[in-house]
Amino acid sequence: MIKRFIRRVLRLGNGAQPEVFSSSEHGIDRERISYGARKVCDVLAGHGHQAYVVGGAVRDLMLGIQPKDFDVATDATPEEVHKLIRRSRMIGRRFKLVHAVFNAEIVEVSTFRAVNVAIGDDAPAEPGTGRMVDAHGRLLRDNVYGNREQDAARRDFTINALYYDPASETVLDYHQGVRDLKRRTLRIIGDPRARFREDPVRMLRAVRLAAKLDFQIAPKTRAPIQEMAGLIKNVPTARVFDEMLKLLLSGHASACLQRLRAEGLHHGLLPLLDVILEQPLGAKFVSLALAQTDRRIREEKPVSPAFLFAALLWHQVAAAWKAREAKRQSRIPALYEAMDDVLDRQTDALAIPRRLTATMKEIWALQPRFENRSGKRPFALLEHPRLRGAYDFLVLRVESGEADPELGEWWRRFIDGTPEERAALILPAPKGEAPRRRRRRRPKKRAEAGPPPALAD
Ligand code: ATP
Ligand code: MG
Repeated sequence: MIKRFIRRVLRLGNGAQPEVFSSSEHGIDRERISYGARKVCDVLAGHGHQAYVVGGAVRDLMLGIQPKDFDVATDATPEEVHKLIRRSRMIGRRFKLVHAVFNAEIVEVSTFRAVNVAIGDDAPAEPGTGRMVDAHGRLLRDNVYGNREQDAARRDFTINALYYDPASETVLDYHQGVRDLKRRTLRIIGDPRARFREDPVRMLRAVRLAAKLDFQIAPKTRAPIQEMAGLIKNVPTARVFDEMLKLLLSGHASACLQRLRAEGLHHGLLPLLDVILEQPLGAKFVSLALAQTDRRIREEKPVSPAFLFAALLWHQVAAAWKAREAKRQSRIPALYEAMDDVLDRQTDALAIPRRLTATMKEIWALQPRFENRSGKRPFALLEHPRLRGAYDFLVLRVESGEADPELGEWWRRFIDGTPEERAALILPAPKGEAPRRRRRRRPKKRAEAGPPPALAD
């Protein structure tokens, strides 16, 4: 133990040398590295560059999980990589990267970057370093190329900072990531406060990865999270949204949320979570929706983010809808206004993209239409492009005890039925229902703000 410590101190003195693990120690089978990642490393190494598989892929392979994608880190600049890899393109918002394309596979190639001298509480931006921090210490730009050691230090967690060299089949480890993998511990590199201040999204990543891998978060890494969670609100909403989507679509969403609750992090970390975890009525519905999404992802079935968000916010919509109806607003316009209300409030904090909100609204708006089971209306609903999602949503409502099981069963039989079976299922028109044509036309204003004609009741 002491020897190891002295070795580390000496190493740090001469520019840190990584610990090197051979294939018998790290256990990664070279064949499990994707074709594209191997090819990129081969080509770059063939031209005298360093190139390693890095990040989540090495971590997952060492844990026996098949990675969903592969990243490569190199000392070649993006321009050099782009020149050497035929089918590649340079991309970059915060920093330049290269995407190397091999049929369906895209390998992300990043140049070693230097950052992460820990920033203290009031550290100003450092002139001339290429680093920029905002008033909260959040890193705005880290576009400085560096060496491999610096690249390892700028990564988030020790288990995400392992470098696998396909040529020598060795793993290089600067931050005791291999030890932490064995101990099933998620530990941030460097000073936790400084690292979370630089990039508050790392707090979300900590919870997501711990849940995905079933790791414990090291106590020192975990300690400041609750107190610092509020910094997430300084991160651009689009980035928080992306990270949250990753969390919700990780296949471990239920576990993640349980983690968040257990760690006392469900307040303030994500505005959406405050909403969905705070409603006792909706709790069952939300957990069913998440469990279903997790299951589908694990079975590699497609999932719809719009469906999931529609489910997460449903009880808010339902409550606002009820409140409006209680004020004697008529049913359908009340629903439309409730939907807009909830979405307006959410977009401030969350920036749910428009392409999703349109679908979410359709799913919600179709719910009361399932109540019509007489005349031609059920047949019209069969033609609706969003029927499948809306029906799955109805099933969730039934399972959570909110909608009548008989209604769900009726629609299952109606959707699956032959034309004769469908006709036999149609119910007589409820008593007292006025024939449609005798109804007065709606005032124009409502039609403008409200549903498209096909959805009007
Ligand atoms: P996943 O299994 O979700 O893909 P991952 O660790 O591979 O997990 P990515 O978002 O693909 O996550 O990031 C790739 C690597 O980039 C990480 O393993 C980590 O080394 C580094 N990284 C990503 N986000 C950050 C961050 N916010 N701060 C520091 N390093 C990061
Ligand atoms: Mg990854």
